[in-house]
Amino acid sequence: MRGNIFLIGIGPGNKDYLTGEAKKTLEKVDIIIGYKLYIELIEEFIQDTRLVKGQMTKELERVNLAIDHALEGKDVALISSGDTGVYGMAGPLLAELDKRELKTEEKPAVRVIPGVTALLAAAAKLGAPLMNDFAVISLSDLLVPWEEIEKRIKSIAKTDFVIGVYNPSSKRRKENFARFREILLKERDGATPVGLVWNAGREKERVLKTTLEDLPEEKVDMLTTVIVGNSKSYISDKGDFITPRGYQQ
Ligand code: SAH
Repeated sequence: MRGNIFLIGIGPGNKDYLTGEAKKTLEKVDIIIGYKLYIELIEEFIQDTRLVKGQMTKELERVNLAIDHALEGKDVALISSGDTGVYGMAGPLLAELDKRELKTEEKPAVRVIPGVTALLAAAAKLGAPLMNDFAVISLSDLLVPWEEIEKRIKSIAKTDFVIGVYNPSSKRRKENFARFREILLKERDGATPVGLVWNAGREKERVLKTTLEDLPEEKVDMLTTVIVGNSKSYISDKGDFITPRGYQQ
C-alpha cells in the first residue's frame, strides 16, 4: 500500500501564520520530515507524531527519505518554511519522484499545501509595497551560478518592478548583496524606498524602512527579506511603505 506525501509550507515562523489545512495535515500524518530549525518551530503543537530532523544542506536526503517512507505505506509530511513551492522542497521532491520511474499505481500520491511565503509576511510588516507588479530574486549562488544571478539583477534593475529579495546574504556570501545594490543604483534613484524585515513573524522580528542609498548592507543576513520599491513607491508620514496601484500617479 503506497502512502501519501504532503508538501507543506509552514509559514515564516509564527504558528499563527500556519494555515488551517497545513495544521490539520500535520496532525494526521505518520511522519514529519524537515530541516531541524523548522521542526523545532512546530514542535510546540505537534508532539504525538514522529518528527525527523534533517540537516540544512541535505535536501535530497530528506526528499528521498520522504519518498521511501511513502513507498512503505506511510503518510509523510515534508516541510519547508514559508511556502514549499517558493525556493522550497516541492520542486526537488517532485523531480526525484519523477526520476524513480515508478508505475503509476506504485507512485505515492503527492499533495502540495501552500503556505505564507516570507515575501508576503515581510510586505505586511512594511505596509503595502507589493501593490503593483513585482519580481522576485534569490541571491543564493549555491544552486545557480552567480553570473546568471547577476544577469537577472541587471535586467530587473532596468524595469520598474518592485523587487523582492530572498537569500540576500550569508556569512559566506556577504558580497552578493553589495553587488545587487551597486547594480540597482546604476539604474534606480538613490531615494527609492527599501524595506528590510528580519525574522518576520518570529520572536526576534525587526523592521527597517530606508532608501537604496542609505541601506545598511552589512546588517542584511540570511534571515532577512528585502523589498525594493519602484519609482512611484514612497514612505508615508505615518511610516507606511506604499506602492501605488496604478501606473499613473
Ligand atoms: N520557502 C521559503 C523561502 C526559503 S529561502 C518561503 O517561502 O518563505 C530562505 C530565505 O527566505 C531567507 O534567506 C530569507 O530571505 C527568507 N526568509 C525565510 N523566512 C523568513 C522570515 N521569517 N523573515 C524574513 N525572511 C525570511
